[in-house]
Amino acid sequence: KSAPIFEDTIVAISTPPGRGGIGIVRLSGPASRAIAEPLLKLRHPLAPAQARFAEILDSTGENPTQTLDEAVVTYFQFPHSYTSEDIVEIAAHGSPVLLDHLLRQCVANGARLAEPGEFTQRAFLSGRLDLTQAEAVRDLIESTTLHQARIAAQQLGGSLSRHITPIKQQLISLIAALEAGIDFAEDDIDFLPNSQISTQIAAIQAPLIALEKSFSYGHIVRDGFTMAIVGRPNVGKSSLFNRLIQRDRAIVTATPGTTRDLVTERLSLEGIPFELIDTAGLRQATDEAESIGIAKTREAMSEADVVLLVLDATAPHQDDNATVAALSGRPFLIVINKQDLAHPESRSWEQSPQTVKTSALTGSGILELRRAILSYIAREVPDMESAVLTNQRQQRSVSDATTALHRAHQAASANIPHEMILLDLYEGLRALDAFSGSTTSDDILHLIFSKFCIGK
Ligand code: GDP
Ligand code: ZN
Repeated sequence: KSAPIFEDTIVAISTPPGRGGIGIVRLSGPASRAIAEPLLKLRHPLAPAQARFAEILDSTGENPTQTLDEAVVTYFQFPHSYTSEDIVEIAAHGSPVLLDHLLRQCVANGARLAEPGEFTQRAFLSGRLDLTQAEAVRDLIESTTLHQARIAAQQLGGSLSRHITPIKQQLISLIAALEAGIDFAEDDIDFLPNSQISTQIAAIQAPLIALEKSFSYGHIVRDGFTMAIVGRPNVGKSSLFNRLIQRDRAIVTATPGTTRDLVTERLSLEGIPFELIDTAGLRQATDEAESIGIAKTREAMSEADVVLLVLDATAPHQDDNATVAALSGRPFLIVINKQDLAHPESRSWEQSPQTVKTSALTGSGILELRRAILSYIAREVPDMESAVLTNQRQQRSVSDATTALHRAHQAASANIPHEMILLDLYEGLRALDAFSGSTTSDDILHLIFSKFCIGK
């Protein structure tokens, strides 16, 4: 990157619309300084990565030397800036009138109004960010929980790119080996045996398949974990729901079967978003409304990321066998509620780490329940080191790549000519290129020649 790639200079108000303590007008492009400087009275000239105090001149008023505002101006010199271009940021008071005036003056001096996202687009086009990092900028700005922000920050730091790069290198090496075998078959380069090609393809595919799966977690990060509270009527589901959200939302009654509609509420446990659902009781319906409630409960159960199965400590435990069976393979935690009442029986599953004892009435065990939910979820949450796909575009690219590699693998197993296997491998590579937004044909050539020393 020896020279800036854009000739024009863009400008925008980079702080949100409306009044605020501070408002920032940002310029990016080769003329940033030339456009900004005539609008300012600087005590000291701008210097790279240094903030300078300045007065903003009322250049269009009666007296052009009159000061309109005081500002702090920061200059970032090419290529050490967000966009890799010259950037000037004028931080003035957050008055929409003043900022608009500044913006117009910049345009009058030759700047162009920036399109949405154009600063980040320039950062991408100049090669400072890849596509996943550019997307992370948007995710970070749009995140609604700290957890989401952390994932975005990680991706902005290049977690996805670092994950994909070695996989792509492996694929390029394989392509290079096959290409060499084909183009220079009369030289002494051996054909790679098909079994070895299959093995290599499988090795490239495996981490991509794992990455593809992480998308479901990315969805959870964005939309939250869905957690359904189920159990027989009157065991205390609504009471627990209210305890977890820490206010009365669901109706608690002594009459069984009253929660006929699903009640949902958003909840955040240590920054992780949850959607908590209180359901009707699971039992034989006595009327139509109740059977609708039960159908909804089953649906909520099958869609939930985790189910909280609530049992009544005072009820005979054989009654619970059917409820436990109804979970049919769903991920769940068991809550044995009403511990404050006498409960002579103990259940075989009481000792399981997946079981928490509570009293929704007194509040005992609720803290333990929150902890149990979090530690249960923690097993589902990839550690912060691992890469997570966070949007549909990324998911589609990775899925295109695994599909193409799968075809290549089948072709290799079926002893189909290398030329045909290569077509699928190239398609896989194109998908990975699309993923990070780059192209690689030069890389491939470079690798063919450097690895096989074919320059002779
Ligand atoms: P749901 O039908 O499962 O939603 O149960 P509710 O939350 O509506 O509670 C049913 C009845 O049990 C109400 O009278 C609650 O006050 C009572 N209840 C709920 N949890 C407890 C508990 O831990 N201890 C006692 N003693 N009563 C409880
Ligand atoms: Zn209820």
